[in-house]
Amino acid sequence: MADQRRDVVIIGAGPAGLGASVYTGRALLRTAILESRLVGGQIIEAYDVDNYPGFPEGIAGAELIDRMVAQAQKFDVEVVNSGAEDVSVEDGGLKRVHVSGGDYVAPIVMVASGAYHRRLEVPGERKLSGRGVSYCATCDGPFFRDRKVVVVGGGDAALTEGVFLTRFASSVTLIHRRQGFRGRPAHLAEAQENQKMEFVLDTVVTEVLGEERVEGVRVRNVRSDQEWMLECDGVFVFIGHDPNTDYIADLVSLRPSGYIDVRDEVFTDVPGLFAAGDVADETYRQLGTSIGAGTRAAMTAERWLAEQGWQSVASGESTEGDARATPAVMPGPLHIG
Ligand code: NDP
Repeated sequence: MADQRRDVVIIGAGPAGLGASVYTGRALLRTAILESRLVGGQIIEAYDVDNYPGFPEGIAGAELIDRMVAQAQKFDVEVVNSGAEDVSVEDGGLKRVHVSGGDYVAPIVMVASGAYHRRLEVPGERKLSGRGVSYCATCDGPFFRDRKVVVVGGGDAALTEGVFLTRFASSVTLIHRRQGFRGRPAHLAEAQENQKMEFVLDTVVTEVLGEERVEGVRVRNVRSDQEWMLECDGVFVFIGHDPNTDYIADLVSLRPSGYIDVRDEVFTDVPGLFAAGDVADETYRQLGTSIGAGTRAAMTAERWLAEQGWQSVASGESTEGDARATPAVMPGPLHIG
């Protein structure tokens, strides 16, 4: 495939990337969003989003994403089912984003590749993933009608998804490695008041048991070292997320936690390369904050390209071919911020 020239390449089609693309597309910047997994990111797993303003009755994450995609496409944004494998900076500041089968070349790249759920990394977990081990209550909860399930974690996800699972399961046992909870008191109270929920604290899961399907978990109390087995049909793991930065870790600075090191919320240390959403936000990680970051990144990029006198590839005849031969050249080295 010949080089695909764009004004903006966004890596990741979650709320941050889609939100940014509405701004860049609407500003007539030729924009491609690359996504290696499901369009929408983590929010499509949300059964009911009730903390995003404008939807007082709540909205399913998948429906919200459908609407975001439709809005982006209205502004000629392309959503491409390919993941970025590597990003490099060429002489003059253009970025080259390598995908399977070809390269995208653009002056602006936005990294909005989100974060992935953590695994327990205990025996049996991978083997039984999709056979009772799940990381998404919305996706898999209905399969556990009148069954016993275990939830692992002590954050908001474990508490709220645990309560959600009580709609289906006969019992939900929440296993957490200490006494204190990271999740909000209101979520903890709701979980504690739920008759179907039980709590096993100071305890870790050491193995997921079963051959074809989950049959139970082996657990260990971290204070007494006592071990025992707990029968269950499903194990839902909600122990946080890790940012998806593997493909870019050689190019940009990361914080010790692995999240992209940004200043003023969207600037990386590479001029013209911005980051937005969960990949750079280890604190808030909310739908609203991701869209806010995407919006800021898009507006900053748009303004900067205008200042540089960048001529959009949308005004050229072709968006394919050798990027070095494009009429839309950067006037001198890129400086930003
Ligand atoms: P968090 O990082 O907040 O919580 C992760 C939990 O998993 C912690 O209790 C942690 O224990 C535990 N944990 C981590 N690693 C392990 C391990 N290897 N073995 C056992 N337990 C482990 O992640 P969440 O996904 O819950 O939440 C992420 C963000 O999303 C938060 O900001 C949260 O507020 C937000 N959120 C908000 C919701 C809402 O408002 N409706 C719903 C869901 C999430 P420890 O506490 O000991 O570190």
